[in-house]
Amino acid sequence: ARILQASSKVNSTWYPASSFSSSVPSVKLFIDGKFVESKSDKWTDIHNPATNEVIGRVPEATKAEMDAAVASCKRAFPAWADTSVLSRQQVLLRYQQLIKENLVVEHACSVTSLILGETMPSITKDMDLYSYRLPLGVCAGIAPFNFPAMIPLWMFPMAMVCGNTFLMKPSERVPGATMLLAKLLQDSGAPDGTLNVIHGQREAVNFICDHPDIKAISFVGSNQAGEYIFERGSRHGKRVQANMGAKNHGVVMPDANKENTLNQLVGAAFGAAGQRCMALSTAILVGEAKKWLPELVERAKNLRVNAGDQPGADLGPLITPQAKERVCNLIDSGTKEGASILLDGRKIKVKGYENGNFVGPTIISNVKPNMTCYKEEIFGPVLVVLETDTLDEAIKIVNDNPYGNGTAIFTTNGATARKYSHLVDVGQVGVNVPIPVPLPMFSFSGSRSSFRGDTNFYGKQGIQFYTQLKTITSQWKEEDATLSSPAVVMPT
Ligand code: NAD
Repeated sequence: ARILQASSKVNSTWYPASSFSSSVPSVKLFIDGKFVESKSDKWTDIHNPATNEVIGRVPEATKAEMDAAVASCKRAFPAWADTSVLSRQQVLLRYQQLIKENLVVEHACSVTSLILGETMPSITKDMDLYSYRLPLGVCAGIAPFNFPAMIPLWMFPMAMVCGNTFLMKPSERVPGATMLLAKLLQDSGAPDGTLNVIHGQREAVNFICDHPDIKAISFVGSNQAGEYIFERGSRHGKRVQANMGAKNHGVVMPDANKENTLNQLVGAAFGAAGQRCMALSTAILVGEAKKWLPELVERAKNLRVNAGDQPGADLGPLITPQAKERVCNLIDSGTKEGASILLDGRKIKVKGYENGNFVGPTIISNVKPNMTCYKEEIFGPVLVVLETDTLDEAIKIVNDNPYGNGTAIFTTNGATARKYSHLVDVGQVGVNVPIPVPLPMFSFSGSRSSFRGDTNFYGKQGIQFYTQLKTITSQWKEEDATLSSPAVVMPT
């Protein structure tokens, strides 16, 4: 919300006063290097979640506008793909300067070593074999609301530095950050058409899934949307990578460092009001660690709930009133199904922000795996707590859960940590690290129902996703080795 407001003040080029609405800025499209006003008659309000005031409007791009965006990507592709990888890297290095703190862009800058092909000299007489990693063409990205800058940055810098051009569709709830990123990319020297930004919802998503000129789709968001996009995009012959929902378990062993563990658990469960796909939303207290529950509740109680831009706020509001209602209904379901609410954030009032979508930290204990509050991704500031007598029981619970995004174990015993890391069927494991998101030189390796596709985001896998191999078998014979008759067998 602040980005949108700030950007409308700072640079009216891409947030001009809307001709459609009287007072709030409208978000533009970014097509062929220009920030253009949509001609759409379908607009969605953007709200500040702390007040529910309307702070902007985002269009659903028309079919003609979306076609123009893909056509722009397609036109820009041959020249961009032919631009040397060193020149593409230079654009990214300037971009990195402009958004210095972002490690994903730094990673994309190491493309010159990551994109290397392979060679095998003298595979047989006078014959060499080598491969190149080449771009796919036009790629597209569909992003969720909860990391408005980071997740688009997982997508287009990596795709573009590999030589692709890119069509980005940010979340309609937070389009401002992508517009700022597009402006910075343009300022870094990326040619017109190499990145286009459209806005929209279902129709824009269908457009991306179906368009014959789009070769690959990167999606991050809920399972409902991700499964649909994976299926529809794949049916149209595209590569699709889809990072989706989660239910991440933190297993607390009685030998853990209590102070660290409780602080880490509380931070990872309630930070960003639980709106992180790697939030540690489920605790499993093993054996004597069950006794730590009252202290866990005390620490959660002390967190400060306020608008996200207020100093000292530990957690802010949920994104929409509907999200708040959903989270409260899931807390209600816990009571109905026999769990205990040890800390209840449903009725919280935040002074000065009485209309905000706030839910305070909530802890539900005595939770069993068959309960709705355990089975559903809550995506709010709610920690559900289960208890077991042994590590083996805890591992069984985690492995029986369909999601495989992240998990953490808290222990001071190396053998316990090793056993857990080895046996747990989850793609990203933290040992005394509550939110084990891999740094960009690795890949984001969520698994099972948290991911569809076979090549993950960023790291080496990201390069693989955005490139295709061309393998060349080449024979250069000297004059006197010229064949004297047809070669009817494979050379060896
Ligand atoms: P969302 O699925 O509602 O929206 C994501 C994108 O899909 C948006 O651009 C939206 O316009 C589009 N979309 C929404 N519903 C659609 C539908 N029915 N059909 C087609 N397109 C649709 O997700 P969100 O609420 O913005 O984000 C929260 C979700 O994202 C959570 O489930 C969270 O776990 C997940 N997430 C996952 C990761 C990860 O890396 N695994 C990271 C961040 C968020």
